Amino acid sequence: MRITMIGSGYVGLVSGTCFADFGHDVVCVDKDQGKIERLLAGKMPIYEPGLEDLVARNVQAGRLRFTTDLKDGVKDADAVFIAVGTPSRRGDGHADLSYVYAAAKEIGEAITGYTVIVTKSTVPVGTGDEVERIIGEAAPDADFGVVSNPEFLREGAAIDDFKRPDRIVIGSEDERATDVMRQVYRPLYLNAAPILVTRRRTAELIKYAGNAFLATKITFINEIADLCEKVGADVKDVSRGIGLDNRIGAKFLHAGPGYGGSCFPKDTLALLKTSQDYDAPQRIVEAVVAVNDNRKRAMGRKIVHAMGDDVRGKTVAVLGLTFKPNTDDMRDSPAIAVIQTLQDAGATVKAYDPEGMEQAEKLLGDVVYCKGPYEAIEGADALAIVTEWDQFRALDLDRVKSLLKTPVLIDLRNIYTPDEIAAAGFQYTSIGR
Ligand code: NAD
Repeated sequence: MRITMIGSGYVGLVSGTCFADFGHDVVCVDKDQGKIERLLAGKMPIYEPGLEDLVARNVQAGRLRFTTDLKDGVKDADAVFIAVGTPSRRGDGHADLSYVYAAAKEIGEAITGYTVIVTKSTVPVGTGDEVERIIGEAAPDADFGVVSNPEFLREGAAIDDFKRPDRIVIGSEDERATDVMRQVYRPLYLNAAPILVTRRRTAELIKYAGNAFLATKITFINEIADLCEKVGADVKDVSRGIGLDNRIGAKFLHAGPGYGGSCFPKDTLALLKTSQDYDAPQRIVEAVVAVNDNRKRAMGRKIVHAMGDDVRGKTVAVLGLTFKPNTDDMRDSPAIAVIQTLQDAGATVKAYDPEGMEQAEKLLGDVVYCKGPYEAIEGADALAIVTEWDQFRALDLDRVKSLLKTPVLIDLRNIYTPDEIAAAGFQYTSIGR
């Protein structure tokens, strides 16, 4: 199959490369010339484990290429995937669909022969109808189908998630288009991945319902963690105790500083906007959004409190800036609000993150960026672990203690146990314990 990806970011680049690895002939298009130049030079524009090798292998095999020329990429394709960004629109939280619609128009002007246009971007219910209208207007004689195929991969584990998904959702009411999609994903259902074919609007909603549910699970355990702190219970044991119940499941029950990243915050907001537009309130999700918003700065205040309620003139070492480990993505990371709260209270922040500092510098100017964890810790009044990168899980605690001015450790990811930290002579604050 000839497949074209419009947008070569976290989703488009990973999906396109994996499709090529399955043997399809793939072109990844992006209008960001710098991104394409880097890819043509064999350099990755994002950090995603395993991606560089997989790209190199498929480029070498002649199955994967990159271009800024959308027309050239689209003209002979069997399936064209739209994988452009859908950030929150300023002001009302609705998904900004301008990139999707612009791509649809350009695709309409470029398609030749029967083509299936696949919306992989996360888009509100009904967007497929509009994409279909735009393409039909741009190319009144074109032969095409529009399907929804939301993506569920997680940054940091994206290749494995794409190749071994829990399910593939195809929203299509057009048999011919569905057949093309089955061929596109054929290598995957040989891996026994269930394919769920639904109405297009249903598929669009599945993505939002899924993300809202996961955000709810996280927020639920975060509030339970707050209660644990008040009543002398341990949230890690509560998580385990409820997660072993198969009806609940153990995943997404890790208490922490609140969810962030490029999907949950914007997708929950967009779902609320849709719910308002259709007069079907989603009160649970409304509460989740409000609780999570409040939590990020509350985590900054928690650090201030652990430092004696006064951080003016003090220095905090922050380890971990990205919204989760194994990515360089800083979009809506809880670290942003945590650091801003510390700075608002008068603290200086020294920080280290294995992959996120280049992105972080664009968002957080007033931070002293360090080359490693111990450089960040040296001379600080407290250490706060904000993202649980593996390399922070086994810090040399004696060395940490000798480098800190005062042995204060705030662990917003519960990666240490209170006993081991107390034994090492620290004053320890974690979540829900
Ligand atoms: P991204 O910002 O990393 O990538 C989007 C790319 O599209 C950018 O490189 C941009 O230059 C390019 N682009 C925009 N308009 C274009 C056009 N007209 N022609 C060519 N290129 C164009 O975004 P992302 O994180 O890959 O997310 C893409 C979509 O996938 C979003 O809707 C997101 O919600 C969804 N999604 C993301 C993830 C994730 O983990 N990042 C997971 C599932 C779904």
